[in-house]
Amino acid sequence: MNILICYVLVLTLPRLILSGLQLRFLAQESAKTPYILDKDNFIKSAQYASIKEKISITETLLDVILIGFWLLYGFHALNNALVLSPLLKSVVFVLGFLLLQSLVNLPLLAYETLVVNKRFGFAKGGVGLFMGDTFKSFMLLLIIGGILIFAFSWIIMNVLNWELYAFILGMVLIVGLNVLYPTLIAPMFNKFTPLENVELKESIDALLMRVGFKSEGVFVMDASKRDGRLNAYFAGLGKAKRVILFDTLLDKIPQDGLLAVLGHELGHFKHRDIYKMMMLLLMFFGILLFGIAHLPQSLFAGAGLEISPHALIVFLLILSAPFGFYFMLIVNALSCHNELNADKFGASLTSEESLAKALLVLVKENNSFPLAHPLYMRFFYSHPPLMVRLIALNCAHLGTRN
Ligand SMILES: [Zn+2]
Repeated sequence: MNILICYVLVLTLPRLILSGLQLRFLAQESAKTPYILDKDNFIKSAQYASIKEKISITETLLDVILIGFWLLYGFHALNNALVLSPLLKSVVFVLGFLLLQSLVNLPLLAYETLVVNKRFGFAKGGVGLFMGDTFKSFMLLLIIGGILIFAFSWIIMNVLNWELYAFILGMVLIVGLNVLYPTLIAPMFNKFTPLENVELKESIDALLMRVGFKSEGVFVMDASKRDGRLNAYFAGLGKAKRVILFDTLLDKIPQDGLLAVLGHELGHFKHRDIYKMMMLLLMFFGILLFGIAHLPQSLFAGAGLEISPHALIVFLLILSAPFGFYFMLIVNALSCHNELNADKFGASLTSEESLAKALLVLVKENNSFPLAHPLYMRFFYSHPPLMVRLIALNCAHLGTRN
């Protein structure tokens, strides 16, 4: 019961307050003079942001109900119901915890993807695509999740100072996932084809050469089958890096803008931002592991569990939410700083104006409301608001209220 009260005070309540602040902010701002977007899109994007916020409020409430269920009743019941060898029990127990969470959130995800995103013109795929994606995600959860839970449980059961070895395993996983994601996991959800436009490819190659960026090549992702939104990114580490352009981006942004956006991404590469973020992630994981390994036994007993691999893992999962919520303040602060530096780098390769104009198109096409409550932003925004970026690019004139 005590943990549940702490959870509500530290996570649920602050999250609801932030959502409330953001909703009021959106209502007030959308009534003012439009800004960056034209009047219709300004109002539409504010509506979109508020619906998403209301979905997130529902998620927060569902989350705390579920945590309450587990702590007050579920853990104890499931623990008694499973008569298996310790290792197998651990895997089934933790998967049960994770699966219930995904199942409970599924209707909301379906509503957001199939109803809300469709209404705002983002979601392109239908029910079939959604079901396919959901099925693949569940399979990944079962297979990869199962293997990981097995590995962590084994370490906890068999190794002294298990948190140290669990940390090393985490480190290997984070690096491994970054290498494998672009070639193994992402292609399960999208098709990646080498860029065909020769002229564009040559300019991109020239840009990559200038920065000394070695990669597997430039790929176009069929993002349009799922979503109308635009993006570009680099995935992978070392030589496994790939430049990924959303097919939606190619249609909407002129070539100089596209090169500027890529220049921005190259800035992240040049400044080694991905490694900085991985270090932060590992720090988070390390602190969390150390904390979990030193929790008093009474805490587990309060939830009807004794100290065991599955108890330690589900507590790790539960506590990572409140801890992560505040840790994101640091991650976002660093990320926003990195974004401005990447903008500067991208602009130096092309021009401030090309990048500013491309950013403007991104915001417009993605229907993102250009403003957010300042406190909300610190918790949830990894990128500075557009106006801050335009000012930093000496292009404030592009973003004035119209
Ligand atoms: Zn960036």
